[in-house]
Amino acid sequence: MQPVKNILLTFDHEMFLGKKSGSIEKCMIDPVNSLRPLLTKHKAKGIFFVDILGLITFQKHNINPKGVADAKEQLQQLFKEGHYIFPHIHPHWRDSIVIKEKEFDLSNCTQYSLAKLNQEEIDQLFQTCLSFLKELDISYPAWGYRAGGWCMQPFSIYKDVFTKYNILYDFSVLPGYKNLDNNQKFDYTMIRKTSPYNFSQNVEVPDPHGSFVEFPISTMAYSEILILFDRILRKYHWKKNDRGFGDGLSASSAGLMYNPEKKEMLSVEKLNWVKLNAYKNFLKKNNFMHLISHPKMFTQHGLKSLDNFLSYAHKKFSIEYDPLKMLSPRK
Ligand SMILES: [Zn+2]
Repeated sequence: MQPVKNILLTFDHEMFLGKKSGSIEKCMIDPVNSLRPLLTKHKAKGIFFVDILGLITFQKHNINPKGVADAKEQLQQLFKEGHYIFPHIHPHWRDSIVIKEKEFDLSNCTQYSLAKLNQEEIDQLFQTCLSFLKELDISYPAWGYRAGGWCMQPFSIYKDVFTKYNILYDFSVLPGYKNLDNNQKFDYTMIRKTSPYNFSQNVEVPDPHGSFVEFPISTMAYSEILILFDRILRKYHWKKNDRGFGDGLSASSAGLMYNPEKKEMLSVEKLNWVKLNAYKNFLKKNNFMHLISHPKMFTQHGLKSLDNFLSYAHKKFSIEYDPLKMLSPRK
């Protein structure tokens, strides 16, 4: 019997959250349609955290109704194919403005974190976003969640809505990282956990008796030489015009994030031939590996590298992709 390894493939299925949202087609539909055959090929289960407030905002202003309809259909297909579809809320969509017939400007980031809203507004947002999915016949006995911009602190603002809407699984914590931007505050530098843990009052404080489960995102440090080769390869792909699917611009505050230990999150958009061996070694050494990826930033070489990595994983190990099954391991 091959040893079991747990791989979480999570995707922030979203628009760009800055000056230009980009189009639904280029940021959501096209890259995810390129990913789907890969997931099917490897019998992999993906977890899609959907930027629901974005789709609702397009809908509300009647911007790109065809794109919204296609996105809804895609979510239903993903659900039928066995992938998880969970909410991912970026509250600053509420302050966005229409710039073109297909796009929004989200440069007003004063309400980037849910911590800037009151309890009633937070409850309303969760209710609206979960209803959006339920209307598409997407529903679960217990939900998972990833906070927009990793802003999961303080957990006290989430606790009531998590309990009310039965959200038990969180995927927001990025150990070792912090962001001190006033609108996007979080500090996970004290978190040492690299596999799922229970918590009750705070995401940063494990509690074996807590009813919530945190699935921390995996990170890794690279040698200076690898970082150099990575930079050269990235330049090469850029020159070859493999620049990614998305056509928008990220929020400026996202750039203020840093991690003192200089680790990098594991991700399809960061994976390439230079890092492939490091990813394989990570899997050899660890039983839990959580990749966080953004389809809007996918490149052809990133997708090919993922294909290669998953082929390797299946050759060497028995892979579990379902987070719920990771909590009650197979016999
Ligand atoms: Zn996001």
